[in-house]
Amino acid sequence: MVVIVPTVVATDAPCTGLSVIYNDDKTFNSYLFYPKNPEAVIVDSEVIANAPVKFLVAGMGDALGTYFEARACDRTDAPSLESGGITRSAMALCRLCYDTLREYGAAAKKACECHVVTPALEAIIEANVYLSGVGADNGGLAVAHSFYNGLTALGGHSAPHGNCVAFGTLVQLVLERAPKKEFEEVQQFCMEVGLPVTLEEIGITKDEEIRVIAEKSCVEGESIHNMVSDVTPDQLYAAIVAADALGKEARA
Ligand SMILES: [Zn+2]
Repeated sequence: MVVIVPTVVATDAPCTGLSVIYNDDKTFNSYLFYPKNPEAVIVDSEVIANAPVKFLVAGMGDALGTYFEARACDRTDAPSLESGGITRSAMALCRLCYDTLREYGAAAKKACECHVVTPALEAIIEANVYLSGVGADNGGLAVAHSFYNGLTALGGHSAPHGNCVAFGTLVQLVLERAPKKEFEEVQQFCMEVGLPVTLEEIGITKDEEIRVIAEKSCVEGESIHNMVSDVTPDQLYAAIVAADALGKEARA
């Protein structure tokens, strides 16, 4: 029996039925899938309210990818992360995750900064841990998580997983030719809660680093290949540069 009691909500890992394996040099190795999810995940909201707010923000970044990555998988009939089909109920959880972030993200951050538990904070704890975790397991991953995995190839990066997934979500929307309104909505959310919209904010400043990320994100077996019309490293490089430029413009 597995019972998980997270003391931060910086990723959706607690509810998922898998572990992410990294090499000793912090580069991504693989996903290790388990036969079942944890029996229970127990989060004490008081503990989260007193944890550093950066963890809550990072968790919102990880949760931000959930709906868009699942939607990409659903469009191509790709298997879910747990290798099942993607159901309407899975998509409803993923959508609720995104809607909850937009509705309560900023208020939850404020509550955490004041170390108080509010309904908004509880809603975001649920989104970060449960909706995102169960959503991703039953939805699927696409560009945002491949972008993060590719980024680990640089070694020694310090940006949190969720912050990189948030930027990777913007990259995915560029590749998907998402409507301007949708892209700006996600970008605005990131700026509202303190998630990155530019590469510099996740510590990427050199062109050769972008090339490495683009190359490594597209290796065989990566979830980026769940996208409609496959993505090449050159296409991903272009999308990363474009998302960064749009972020710089929004920040100006
Ligand atoms: Zn994640």
